Amino acid sequence: MPEKPEVITVAKSLTKRLIRKHFTSCKVYWENIIQNGSIATFEKGVCHQKIQKITTRGKWIVIQMEKSSLLIHLRMEGKFFFKEASLPKEKHEHVIFTLDDGTTFRFHDVRKFGKMSLLPNDIVFQSLPLSALGYEFNDDKLTKEYLKEHLKNRHIPIKTALLDQSIIAGIGNIYDDEILFYSHISPFRKANKVSLKECETLIQNIKEVLEKAIQKGGTTIKSFTSEEGVHGRFQNELQVHGKKGEICPICGTVISKVMIQGRGTYFCKHCQK
Ligand SMILES: [Zn+2]
Repeated sequence: MPEKPEVITVAKSLTKRLIRKHFTSCKVYWENIIQNGSIATFEKGVCHQKIQKITTRGKWIVIQMEKSSLLIHLRMEGKFFFKEASLPKEKHEHVIFTLDDGTTFRFHDVRKFGKMSLLPNDIVFQSLPLSALGYEFNDDKLTKEYLKEHLKNRHIPIKTALLDQSIIAGIGNIYDDEILFYSHISPFRKANKVSLKECETLIQNIKEVLEKAIQKGGTTIKSFTSEEGVHGRFQNELQVHGKKGEICPICGTVISKVMIQGRGTYFCKHCQK
């Protein structure tokens, strides 16, 4: 699943292609993708508004138009393609937008887990789904005190707590493993047993790992390409994630893989306590 750096990479590539254009028509082929309002309202409402800005909030892409914002969550395998309008719809293309230049912008999702919402600009950030999100990784309000406060009553592994989008928005399974490795904290440690000092270390590593991944265009994982032909380069920087059986770059211990709450988790038994 794409995480914050991959979603930012997608938003940047969409900005190049979509800014100052508008949709002239929209057709939804898989109704469960649309989260609010009727399909007809969505298809009509998304058209004839100039696209002004494309940003992200958590793992959502926010396409801000003149009056409303189109929110898109890629979930497991959602991706976009720009194609000539004359090309036939492919099996996994579930929403097709036609642009004012006559080409099409298509949402492709093999697993059908992707989500879209259309909301008025004045309420988009105060309404679900965005209102349920915690701070962005680079928000100044994300302090060690904030993190400690949100972990103190949680008897779940820290690995799981960092995936909770209502605490910090944007961290997924890959960067979670990397952040805990750099912070020398075991993924099994109960969230309420992470000290204030360790919260400070975690926040520092969250910022460093995600910033670096954003600079590298994210990580290319097996099911994810940010767009046709766009691949991240951060996979070369991964220290533990996906490296079962390889040796820890710090101490030489073999890296372990375990399952925590159903998520494949990679860590060094020696370095992470
Ligand atoms: Zn180690």
